Amino acid sequence: MRTFYVTTPIYYPNSEPHAGNAYTTIAADVLARYHRLKGDQVCFLTGVDEHAANVYDAAKAEGLSPQAYCDKIAPTFVKLWERLNISHDIFFRTTSDLHKRGAQKFLNVLYDNGDVYKGKYEGYYCLSCEEFFSEKELTDEKICPVHKRPLQWLEEEN
Ligand SMILES: [Zn+2]
Repeated sequence: MRTFYVTTPIYYPNSEPHAGNAYTTIAADVLARYHRLKGDQVCFLTGVDEHAANVYDAAKAEGLSPQAYCDKIAPTFVKLWERLNISHDIFFRTTSDLHKRGAQKFLNVLYDNGDVYKGKYEGYYCLSCEEFFSEKELTDEKICPVHKRPLQWLEEEN
């Protein structure tokens, strides 16, 4: 028996799910169902990435802690996947204990191998894209090519 693993992106729960989330999840569902019909052993994961600046901002705007906000929004994703009859095996939340333990284990391996060091990164950043843009990608106005809004100059120590 062959095994097949498929995952959607883990979505930012900075709002309730939208058509783009549904589109991507339905596409992954089609793939998972196809492989099950073929007799493959399938693992289909979807979920939410609750550690993002846009999630923090959304929580703050509603006067909630990020965890309380995520506890309110994450179930709206689960509910939509139920309504759409999505056949996922795992709904993952990055605030789950399982994720925290896995992330800690992974980071400890990196640390033990000397792959973790302090550095600085800076550049033009879009809060909505959660992405830095290089000078080459931008015009003189320094606006997000996707959102057409001014970018922030962000410096972060990592
Ligand atoms: Zn953007």
